[in-house]
Amino acid sequence: LMQFFRPLDFLGTVYRTVQQGLIDMEAMFELLDTPSEIVDAQDARALAVPRGEIRFENVRFGYDADRPILNGIDLVVAPGSKLAIVGPSGAGKSTIARLLFRFYDVTGGRILVDGQDIAKARQETLRAAIGIVPQDTVLFNDTIGYNIAYGREGASEAEIREAAKGAAIHSFIESLSEGYATRVGERGLKLSGGEKQRVAVARALLKDPPILILDEATSALDSRTEAEIQATLERAEQGRTTIVIAHRLSTIVDADEIVVLDHGRIAERGSHAALLEQGGLYAEMWARQREERAAGSPARLGEADE
Ligand code: ADP
Ligand code: MG
Repeated sequence: LMQFFRPLDFLGTVYRTVQQGLIDMEAMFELLDTPSEIVDAQDARALAVPRGEIRFENVRFGYDADRPILNGIDLVVAPGSKLAIVGPSGAGKSTIARLLFRFYDVTGGRILVDGQDIAKARQETLRAAIGIVPQDTVLFNDTIGYNIAYGREGASEAEIREAAKGAAIHSFIESLSEGYATRVGERGLKLSGGEKQRVAVARALLKDPPILILDEATSALDSRTEAEIQATLERAEQGRTTIVIAHRLSTIVDADEIVVLDHGRIAERGSHAALLEQGGLYAEMWARQREERAAGSPARLGEADE
């Protein structure tokens, strides 16, 4: 039990952990998606998140100076509400999530959480307030229980199991010969894309943060498992500010606002009904996906768990 019950705070202690050799550098950088150059200002303050309001003000960003990716994004996500971001691949959707988590600093404009500029806040206090289910989950070379537990320091075994149940991965874990103590990652059991995604969902559920980011969180799942997790995620969204980056539009029809991102700009915004009425990009995407569903979705078959 002690083997998997070794929770650690994500970024607060990750560097110390690396020194202790518990995870390898490569896994950490993959996990962070960048050799983080984000440095806190000397007078950086703890971020307080009593309400969970998110505000993007004319945000500009590029990974390289000569290639802008986001060209002036304005967004307000009210506390407890749900914003959906949709749009073609490469539009900049995941980049928005990464900027909010401060994997990178913006090159123009500001991102505010409850009125505080996140660039001036201590990184670990920002990240403590946000649960993220990324598009591609990288697991630590450790037990599957540990990989869930590190969502929150001091989580009990019962809480870890509860989160795993919510993410529809508990019975799979129980079926493994060593259960929650089974090692995963490069040096252990290889998990499918869908299984990794469910570990990430469990981690986010356990963390129980005021802000939740779901970046195509169920894209690698078969439709039955997706439906199962969808119900859990909908419950998890209650009472917290949520940003959902969605591939399948059927999962975001209930969003308070839907933003259509195209080439780093907001091309359309509004409710599902309003956007359909508008007859633009969103309406086109909706019609296309409805046809695919009606046709028994051949694309869907290729998407199942690998
Ligand atoms: P989406 O999530 O909408 O598919 P992304 O936000 O992942 O799009 O990427 C937007 C653009 O930024 C793409 O052209 C992508 O190739 C580029 N990009 C993403 N990550 C990096 C990176 N780490 N370095 C350089 N370019 C990147
Ligand atoms: Mg993406």
